[in-house]
Amino acid sequence: MTKHVYTFGAGKAEGKAGMKNLLGGKGANLAEMNLIGVPVPPGFTITTEVCTKYNEDGQEKTFAAIKEEVEAAVAMVEELTETTFGDKENPCLLSVRSGARASMPGMMDTVLNLGMNNDAVEGIAKKSGNDRFAWDSYRRFVQMYGDVVMDMKPSSKEESDPFEEIIEELKEEKGIQLDTEFTTDDLKELVRRFKAAVKNKTGKDFPTDPWQQLWGAVAAVFGSWNNPRANYYRRMEQIPDEWGTAVNVQAMVFGNMGDSSATGVAFTRDAGTGEDVFNGEYLINAQGEDVVAGIRTPQEITLSGSKKWADLQGISEEVRASKYPSLEEAMPELYNQLNDVQQKLEDHYSDMQDLEFTIQEGKLWLLQTRNGKRTGAAMVKIAVDMLEAGNIDDKTALTRIDANKLDELLHPVFIPAALESANVIAKGLPASPGAATGQVIFFADEAAKYDKSILVRIETSPEDLEGMHIAKGILTARGGMTSHAAVVARGMGKCCVSGAGAVKINYKSRSMTIDGKEFKEGDWISLNGSTGKVYEGKVETKNPDMSGDFGKVMDLAEKFARMKVRTNADSPNDAKVARKFGAEGIGLCRTEHMFFEGERIKAMREMILSNNETERRKALGKLLPYQREDFEGILEAMAGYGVTIRLLDPPLHEFVPHEEANQKDMANEMGISVEEVKALVEDLHEFNPMLGHRGCRLGNTYPEITEMQARAIIEAAVNLKQKGVDARPEIMVPLIGTVKELKLQADIIHETAKKVFEEKGAEVDYLVGTMIEVPRAAVTADEVAEVAEFFSFGTNDLTQMTFGYSRDDAGKFLPIYIEKGILKNDPFQVLDQGGVGQLVQMGVDKGRSVKSDLKVGICGEHGGEPSSVMFCNTVGMDYVSCSPYRVPIARVAAAQANLK
Ligand code: PEP
Ligand code: MG
Repeated sequence: MTKHVYTFGAGKAEGKAGMKNLLGGKGANLAEMNLIGVPVPPGFTITTEVCTKYNEDGQEKTFAAIKEEVEAAVAMVEELTETTFGDKENPCLLSVRSGARASMPGMMDTVLNLGMNNDAVEGIAKKSGNDRFAWDSYRRFVQMYGDVVMDMKPSSKEESDPFEEIIEELKEEKGIQLDTEFTTDDLKELVRRFKAAVKNKTGKDFPTDPWQQLWGAVAAVFGSWNNPRANYYRRMEQIPDEWGTAVNVQAMVFGNMGDSSATGVAFTRDAGTGEDVFNGEYLINAQGEDVVAGIRTPQEITLSGSKKWADLQGISEEVRASKYPSLEEAMPELYNQLNDVQQKLEDHYSDMQDLEFTIQEGKLWLLQTRNGKRTGAAMVKIAVDMLEAGNIDDKTALTRIDANKLDELLHPVFIPAALESANVIAKGLPASPGAATGQVIFFADEAAKYDKSILVRIETSPEDLEGMHIAKGILTARGGMTSHAAVVARGMGKCCVSGAGAVKINYKSRSMTIDGKEFKEGDWISLNGSTGKVYEGKVETKNPDMSGDFGKVMDLAEKFARMKVRTNADSPNDAKVARKFGAEGIGLCRTEHMFFEGERIKAMREMILSNNETERRKALGKLLPYQREDFEGILEAMAGYGVTIRLLDPPLHEFVPHEEANQKDMANEMGISVEEVKALVEDLHEFNPMLGHRGCRLGNTYPEITEMQARAIIEAAVNLKQKGVDARPEIMVPLIGTVKELKLQADIIHETAKKVFEEKGAEVDYLVGTMIEVPRAAVTADEVAEVAEFFSFGTNDLTQMTFGYSRDDAGKFLPIYIEKGILKNDPFQVLDQGGVGQLVQMGVDKGRSVKSDLKVGICGEHGGEPSSVMFCNTVGMDYVSCSPYRVPIARVAAAQANLK
């Protein structure tokens, strides 16, 4: 019989860390913590399989199947805590939380204090000797359960939360300002009004039976797997919908039982920088979500952290020590225990941990541990530090690198000179490093309004996720380093400044004031997520310098990768940048990009305007020296490595102007009439230019173009060789579908090379190969390989032609296709292994069947996307090629692919 429920408590557990798929990350680690002697409130985990079953078979059937196991597990919790569910004397209160395989912070629902009713509240009051605490717990429960299970949450941003409204109402009636000023009777009144509001809105009574409450909460957690923000998060993080979430039910522990209780969140290392310092935040006499919700200002756990914090906030040592003491000062004994536990957990998992803890009347409990989310910089530093300390081996260190996250290390920081003249308008916490400049917006769902936007909120919530993703940076007025905004931004690698108290936001007027100065929606501001400073206006940015640790990660990539990484570059400068990142050659030099500058475009247009071969040759003669010069620069920048230069590829209409004003300019420049220009443009018009007169179809209709380009390449290489430079040209014919198309072009190239060698009295080695980007070329790759000396998969066009999706128009429907689950990913970003990938595999296999040492690579955008790089490794490619800034990502992915 399938086991659906796994219990843990008092140092025993039915699960363990390795069971994440079944128990979710949280559940597996709760079990593991029990096994290694970390204090965890007893409880049980309902498996992710049950969630899948719930979504397939529905609630009734699923709950019937797990009922007995859940009842037995609750009985175990009752026994260990010596309480009884729903009891008037000694009631058992539970927390119910989600927990998927991959962490999805704040995306799904949680219910605390479950089991509360008019009897239990008395029991809790008696037990704690604290009426107010009991009733506060009760009103929190009704509020949370109402929101999560009974759909009381407002459905639009204009609507206000009914519970918050009631709270405000009562405060007004009582003439008080703070929640803490409510008396026990007020809290009783709140419970009464909350329940009435539930009845009023839903027509249902608030459930008093704890079992009914429990099943309702379990159903809500399963249901929340499919809420819009969880769906969005899964798409962003590429978490499969089928995984489902587990449900963790645990005995409640209370951080709000008075001044010997507290709750907090901590990291075993700095999640922003990777520094090996224990850090975190806590609040005395607070419950669960208070720390992350940004409602009260959380205090630092360590003394050193607290001093640093006060310094940043401009708070004097005297005020800090009296008003905001660290846990280390306020509860030294418990701090020591927590410090031991954090070290134990980090040692056990050999990775930076993100912990949640609660102190209930002087006793420490851990509620969660997981591998902490971190910035790209922290990821690199922690992996290298742990490797060097001997905590992990080199393979493990390499697998700790999320290749895509390296991107953050390669992205802009402020130009110091620009910063000097920039005016600091506010200071908050350095929640997520990096620099961002953009126009202010106040609502997450409007983040796309500007090209570069900075989302400014009092605090963020999981609903804001999509907007946070779109925005260039995030600024919040409230919340600490572990606030929602900070945690989520760090996970995304997005610059974030949190808790900038001087920022006063008025959502209604879409404006904020800082020190009396007003900023409106659309105004420019800049953020430094590494210092917490907020600047007025635009501040220019530049690319960052790479640290020594980055180099060490690259060394690991070097050590374990089989495939080489090349770059797509068409200027000597790009080639140099890519070399610095470790690119070993150019996989695609798109020659057409070289035709646009200055005089070149004129010569190109002359060529297009030519009426016959003689005229065309004359125009091409003007282009030749430019091309030769370009190729010399590129071949020299990549000396010693192969440089794949592709012959002209785009349809010719791309080289003529389509707007009237530009057509006039062209007419003047070429000494012809505007009508003639218009006629030319008309003549070049094609209904499907991507499937039209382009690629080798150009070279096969105008062989003199191929001849000129081949001559420029070979001449450049010979010139360089005569200067002692090791130039290694590889000439690539684009868009072939039949071997004959390639053969005719290869003949021209070889004949031209022969001529150049004779003229120059010197020779160079060169290769002639082709792109495989038309499905027919992949299917007939054995024939193609008879002629080609190398293949490079052009998966942009191959994807376009395999799916029949226009590269240029797919944006209209792809997002909808992904949302509806028709496609998992955008196939132009992530290689479609099941379809396009099959053609790639077939192309490689058939090509090598006739030429076993055929050099094979990829130069479509997929060459820099980790999962696609892994696929390329599997099919046996020799290299992947990608844009310069993705080279480090591809190198790490190539190495990781080879470890698997
Ligand atoms: C391709 O089609 O994958 C490719 C690299 O060529 P382009 O993007 O220039 O068409
Ligand atoms: Mg192409």
